[in-house]
Amino acid sequence: MERRVARAENAAHVEEQTKVVYALEKNNQSQQKELNLTKQLIDAKDKYLLILSSFCIVLIALFMWLIYLLKKVKKLANTDGLTQISNRRFGIQQAQKIHNKFFKSSANNTMAIAMMDLDHFKSINDTYGHDIGDKVIKASVNIALSQLNKNDVFCRMGGEEFLFVIKGESKTEIINKLDLIREKLYQFDTHPLGIAKPISASFGISIISKNDNLKISDHITQSDTALYDAKNSGRNKVSLFSIDEPTHNK
Ligand code: GH3
Ligand code: MG
Ligand code: MG
Repeated sequence: MERRVARAENAAHVEEQTKVVYALEKNNQSQQKELNLTKQLIDAKDKYLLILSSFCIVLIALFMWLIYLLKKVKKLANTDGLTQISNRRFGIQQAQKIHNKFFKSSANNTMAIAMMDLDHFKSINDTYGHDIGDKVIKASVNIALSQLNKNDVFCRMGGEEFLFVIKGESKTEIINKLDLIREKLYQFDTHPLGIAKPISASFGISIISKNDNLKISDHITQSDTALYDAKNSGRNKVSLFSIDEPTHNK
C-alpha cells in the first residue's frame, strides 16, 4: 500500500517537473523569439542609418556641385570669352563699387577712369585675318594685366576697346602707369604673329576728384573724349581729359 502511494507521489512529482520543464522551454522559446526580433530591429535600424547617411552624403555632394555650378555660371556671366577679363557689364559694376568706396574713404589717393583703344586695328584684321586680330587683342590684354595691380579694374568694353579704373598716389603715377602700358604694347614683338609693324594703342584718362559730383558714366564719357583727342593728334598717345585743353604725354 505504502509503495503504491509512493509510486503515485513519484508520478505526480515527475508530471509536475515535466510541466515546469515544458513551461521553461516555452519561456525560452519566446525569449529567443524576442531576441531574434530585437536583432532584426537592430539590423533594420543599421540599414536605415546607412541609407540615410548615404542619402545625406549624396545630398551634400549635390549641394556642393550646385554651388560650384552657380559660381561657374556667375564667372561666365561676368567674363569676356576671348580675353577672360571682366566684360563690360561687370567691369562697370566693379567701377561703380570702387567709385562709391573712394568717396566714402578719407584716404588722400587719386583715382582715374581710362579708356584704351588699339590703333588701326581694322587694318590688322584686314591684312592678317581675324584670328591674328584675336591674338593681338589677347596679347594686348596680357601686357596691360602685367602692369596692373590686383585692385585695378580692367574690362573689355567691346572689340579692341578697354576700360581701366586705376588708383594711385597721384595723377602723375596713374598717367605714368598707362604710358608704360602704351610703351610695352609698342615694344611688343609682333613677328611671331607674322605682323611686320608694331602695334599701338591710344588712351584717354579722366581723373576723379572727390570734389566733383560726376557719375561713373560721366567719367567714361570724359575718358572717351580724351581718347578721341589722342587718336586725332596722332595715336599711340595717352591723353588727359581737361575742360579747357586736353594734355598729352608725348
Ligand atoms: P582707330 O585707330 O581709329 O581705332 O582705328 P581702328 O581700325 O582700330 O578702328 P576701330 O576701333 O573702329 O576698329 C575696330 C575693329 O575691331 C573693327 C572690328 O572688325 C574689329 N573687332 C571687333 N571685335 C573684334 C574681335 O573680337 N576680334 C577681332 N579680330 N576683331 C574685332
Ligand atoms: Mg581702334
Ligand atoms: Mg575701337
